[in-house]
Formats: sequence, structure tokens, C-alpha cells
Amino acid sequence: MTKEKEPVKFKTVKLLPTLWSLDAYVIPSKYNDQHRKDIASDMVTRYGANYECYYEELEKINCVINVSATKKSKSKGETRIIMLVEYDLKTIVHELLHVLQHLSNLSGVEMSYDAQEWQACMLEYLYGEFMDLKKIPVLK
Ligand SMILES: [Zn+2]
Repeated sequence: MTKEKEPVKFKTVKLLPTLWSLDAYVIPSKYNDQHRKDIASDMVTRYGANYECYYEELEKINCVINVSATKKSKSKGETRIIMLVEYDLKTIVHELLHVLQHLSNLSGVEMSYDAQEWQACMLEYLYGEFMDLKKIPVLK
């Protein structure tokens, strides 16, 4: 019997106190075309644009992007920060810093020397959401 393939994991984290959320797709180390198709299909439901567009975007891994969902999608017109990252804690922390930059850009709250505390608190909170990789739910 063949070993069950490693699944894609998925988690939404509210970026409180802001209104934005992070959608994180955590992919296995052996990222294959089936994973890419599964994520692209999920993104169609979640954000509403076409499959080919997402499939194309998913060639690049370990990245953070913003997506504006259509009104008819599951995310109902919201802007989402999306992280596509390998199942590796060091890489996740790296991408979480990019998430903070995206949040700063969306919210207009600057990341600067004089505004360190919110960045440190947010990074601590996000790290806590991802530190136990086994607890991240499987994408359905
Ligand atoms: Zn980077």
C-alpha cells in the first residue's frame, strides 16, 4: 500500500485589532502539481477569480500576496493577505515578517523604529498561531 500523500494545510488568522485576515496555505516539502491544483480550486471558491489566474500565481512558493475577493465569493469582497509557505517553521517566520509589511501597507500603520511594539506583538501572536505545525488544519 502506498503512503498517503502529505496534504496542504490551511488556516485563517484574524489580524486583530485590524479588520484584515491572513489566509495561510502551508504546503508540504514535496509540493506537487496536485497540491497546486487543490489550492487553485480552493482560491476560486474563496476569492472568486478564475482558476488559471490562481494556478499561474501558485508557481511561486514562499510568498505573501494581497487578494481582493469578489463580492460573490466566500470572502465577500474582502481584501485578504495570503501566505503560501512551506511546512518549515523558519520559512514561516520569514514570511510572517512579510505579512506585517503587507498589513502595514494596507492599514497605513507604519513599521518604524518608533512603532516597534505593535510589530513585536503581532509577530509574537502570529508565531503562536503557527508554531505547532501539527495543529494547522488540513485544507478541505
Ligand atoms: Zn522574503
